[in-house]
Amino acid sequence: MNEYKSLPNEDSKCIDLTSCDSGSDTNCNGSFGEIYIPESKKHFAVINPSKMCQPMGAVQALLGIDGAMPLIHGSQGCSTYLRFQMCRHFREPVNISSTSMSESTVVYGGEENLLKALETIWREYKPKLIGVTSSCLTETIGDDMNLIIRKFRSEHSDEELPLIIPISTPSYSGSHVDGYDKTIKSLLENMALQNQANDKINIVPGNISPADVREIKEILELMECSSIILTDNSESLDAPHTGSVSFLPPAGTKINEIIDSANSKASISLCKHANSGAKFLEKRFDVKSISGPLPVGLKNTDKFISAICQIKNCELPEKLEKDRGRLIDTIIDAHPYNYQRKVAIYGDPDVVSGLAGFTAELGMMPAVVCTGAESIRFLDDMKEVAKESGSKPAVMQGCDLYDLQNYIKDNPVDLLIGNSYGARIANEENIPLFRVGFPIYDRMGAQRNPIVGYSAGIRLVDTLANMILEKYYDASGGEIE
Ligand code: SF4
Repeated sequence: MNEYKSLPNEDSKCIDLTSCDSGSDTNCNGSFGEIYIPESKKHFAVINPSKMCQPMGAVQALLGIDGAMPLIHGSQGCSTYLRFQMCRHFREPVNISSTSMSESTVVYGGEENLLKALETIWREYKPKLIGVTSSCLTETIGDDMNLIIRKFRSEHSDEELPLIIPISTPSYSGSHVDGYDKTIKSLLENMALQNQANDKINIVPGNISPADVREIKEILELMECSSIILTDNSESLDAPHTGSVSFLPPAGTKINEIIDSANSKASISLCKHANSGAKFLEKRFDVKSISGPLPVGLKNTDKFISAICQIKNCELPEKLEKDRGRLIDTIIDAHPYNYQRKVAIYGDPDVVSGLAGFTAELGMMPAVVCTGAESIRFLDDMKEVAKESGSKPAVMQGCDLYDLQNYIKDNPVDLLIGNSYGARIANEENIPLFRVGFPIYDRMGAQRNPIVGYSAGIRLVDTLANMILEKYYDASGGEIE
């Protein structure tokens, strides 16, 4: 077992899991490698964090709803930060409203601000739905958003109001992944209604790109499977240029679809960390729930497709069968260049798990994986990857990119895979970086490049193999064969 030699502090732990058979105990020994778990006093600060705050995920989910307006109950900076981050990634105008809390409202409570904000948004922008997310500030002072929203409704009981959904997103706990998950659950808790059964499958995509959602929709269309996407950002966050600007998402999941989700045959959450909404539908309305994995690569896409085939009692369409065959062919073609290449992968837990599984399929070694979230499901996923691939990845969760860079300094890798925040590590350590995840602000096309499904897998293999060729073969004269 490799020693993790560069622990910044002796309180940090490096744990060998070489004989563990339980996914719930991180302090046991197991057969798949080591885990480095930092203790809370390891850092006086987080350096280059690998996660964002809960409202970020909440807003991403809300912007996938046709005519919805996100309202952050907090100070203006929250809304500015989220808009800035999303605009530079999606390269679309993003509108997020704010209750604009100030010193006095922090002392006396934000009721007046929230009431005024709801009134203004309703009258000025006429949204179909307002998703009210809390922030670290309003959670700390203890504003009761449910009570304030009830007061607003009772003050306007004789008028037709938009749907107003309160979403608790305290930013000092969890991450943007939890914010997304809580938003989907809140929408379903407040809106889903059971009446006549439909023939649809609910899909909860999680924090994935518009291109990925489009890819999933195309697969479902090929399989003649009608669906409800909870929520669909494929048009709103990657919109065609029309010459007109809308303050609200002009497309996305319809309100009626969210209501109708209680009548679907089943729900599939592509991300295991975004399955609370589907679990709620299962518990309340008996809609079968299936969780992940994110369909990245061959096996994970197989699992997604076979889940649909089982629910719909259908066969794999010829087009998908051919795409699958081409992906296998591409994996074989690229194998000599990918084989045993060590990769470091960081980002959201489901994206990291999916990519770790995929790189293992390519013959690469997922040498270290890092996520800012802390999750038993992530550990279980990594155990599975390790078992299937025979590799021994170092698993860093609840960690930042400073931890990752320290690890890489002592345990070099051939390739970095993650968002733009790893660019500095790539430069300093002289490792190529394949940009994937959120945010990507120093390259074009993040919203247009899918990673899910067989076809996207083919592009991924080509891109990764070409990066290896460029870095490790071209410099030596390019003699490959
Ligand atoms: S961490 Fe808190 S203050 Fe910062 S953007 Fe998120 S909600 Fe706002």
